[in-house]
Amino acid sequence: MDHIKYLKCMICGKTYQPDEVKYVCPDHGNEGILDVVYDYEVIARRLSPASLAENSDPTIWRYKPLLPVEPNAEVPPLTVGGTPLYETPRLAEHLGLKSVWVKDDGRQPTASFKDRASAIAIVKAREAGAEIVTTASTGNAAAALSGLAASIDQPNVIFVPASAPQAKIAQLLTFGSTVMLVDGTYDDAFELCMEAADAFGWYNRNTGYNPYMSEGKKTVSFEICEQLDWDAPDVIFVSVGDGCIIGGVYKGLYDLLQLGWIDHMPRIIGVQAEGSNFLAEAWEKGEDVLTKPPIDAHTVADSISAGLPRDRLKAMRAVRESKGAFVTVGDDEILTAIPELAQKTGVFAEPAGATAYAGLRKAVEQGLVSAEDRIVVINTGSGLKDVASAMKAAEMTGAKPYRIPPTLKVVREALGA
Ligand SMILES: *Cc1c(COP(=O)(O)O)cnc(C)c1O
Ligand SMILES: [Zn+2]
Repeated sequence: MDHIKYLKCMICGKTYQPDEVKYVCPDHGNEGILDVVYDYEVIARRLSPASLAENSDPTIWRYKPLLPVEPNAEVPPLTVGGTPLYETPRLAEHLGLKSVWVKDDGRQPTASFKDRASAIAIVKAREAGAEIVTTASTGNAAAALSGLAASIDQPNVIFVPASAPQAKIAQLLTFGSTVMLVDGTYDDAFELCMEAADAFGWYNRNTGYNPYMSEGKKTVSFEICEQLDWDAPDVIFVSVGDGCIIGGVYKGLYDLLQLGWIDHMPRIIGVQAEGSNFLAEAWEKGEDVLTKPPIDAHTVADSISAGLPRDRLKAMRAVRESKGAFVTVGDDEILTAIPELAQKTGVFAEPAGATAYAGLRKAVEQGLVSAEDRIVVINTGSGLKDVASAMKAAEMTGAKPYRIPPTLKVVREALGA
């Protein structure tokens, strides 16, 4: 992989060749997350906005020279990436803004953003000759790994909290994964999965540990900028749990800036749930995220419930280097954001997806964005992932179906006609 200079420890800055270490900086144990550092001169010879314009492949693999995989690496057949970026004038007007787009990653093969990372995990696991791949997850990373593994017949073992929404567990069972429903939190499932991967020699996809996951997630920024004709937005809103997505969003923009394909770094606003606000709190108080103790996380947005965000170093870098911010939103604000986003855009988001939009509403209130800003909101997961929360959100708006016998007369009465 001559387009990779080295992997660099986010803590000590020590560098390693990709074949020298498997996941983390040996000097820092599980916390020593590595950053992939590229040789942009090599990449620029292989890829350009012009060559991309002629490439009809809509998936993340159109950016293969910017990804940590061999040029001839075989990739899984599911169409990961190429999700729509919708301009949403009614939503913008509602908030008194000029331009808002929604990037709908509910439209991925397993219905969440996590497919971007798991696709890379599958390629790297094959490269490593792994017999079994494993991950812990609040549900979506699991479903993503499970579906992508099924697409190439790759055995896998998944650890999720027993409290994960039914739809996500149904995906795992349907795709044929070996499923460990852990009586405990996501953080418990994570620790157990790490131990098991170590004990059994499985390929470890875990977020904030495997250095390549943020590399898959960065493809969202490539797509957003390409969809906007390389005129990067001013602000990007994304929900944050472990911090891998926001780290990836930043990394993709950083790559494009180094290549000179965009001319500024958008501000990245990380949105956390009030009940799972480790990073937002650390940001506000200027705390060291390496020594800050875990919090007790509780939120309706299960996908961003993380007591100890595993990719916290990359998350903090994203906000710091992009001159962005963190905002927090309460569970009620998250739930009411679901039908509001749906009714103004036609995009149905799960709670953690709608959280990004709830964050935009909050940022408008707090004066963090101006009316002229060009703003992108990332929906990270489909509303079908968590129907119970969607029903609750609909109830909160007072929306109710008419329960009727099958007669036109009653329809007429119900409509008051
Ligand atoms: C995983 C996930 C997030 C948060 O991503 P992190 O990398 O954990 O910060 C947000 N929304 C959805 C739907 C997710 O599945
Ligand atoms: Zn180190």
